[in-house]
Amino acid sequence: MKTLMISACLLGVSCRYDGAAKPVDECMRLAEEAFLVPFCPEQLGGLPTPRPAAGIRGGDGADVLAGRAGVFRIEDGADVTRAFVRGAEEALRIAETVGADGFVLKGGSPSCGWGRVRGVCAALAAARGYEIREYA
Ligand code: SF4
Repeated sequence: MKTLMISACLLGVSCRYDGAAKPVDECMRLAEEAFLVPFCPEQLGGLPTPRPAAGIRGGDGADVLAGRAGVFRIEDGADVTRAFVRGAEEALRIAETVGADGFVLKGGSPSCGWGRVRGVCAALAAARGYEIREYA
């Protein structure tokens, strides 16, 4: 059985910035074929729930990791880059510990996004060679 790291909000955990979850039936069913390890990089980075929305400025998640871009709160522009990078590093530490085969990530997030929005955690997972699947 494969071991997959999965954005906790996709499994119904209320860890989103607005205190909500984003459960996806298809993700719930993954539990029948894989060992799922739910995680939320923003919580792992020390941010509270709920928390102010944030976005990447100056590039994408890979640029944030390279120090060329940052993550800032939308409402007041506060710099939360360190929390996002720390959360991504913690998530990857867990992935390594459990011997994960890949990541299943929530799209549109400055942490987990892997499509239109390329998040910080997704970028770090990709850089470490993990397979990534995204659900909107
Ligand atoms: S950081 Fe990832 S796991 Fe956490 S709420 Fe956002 S999309 Fe879901």
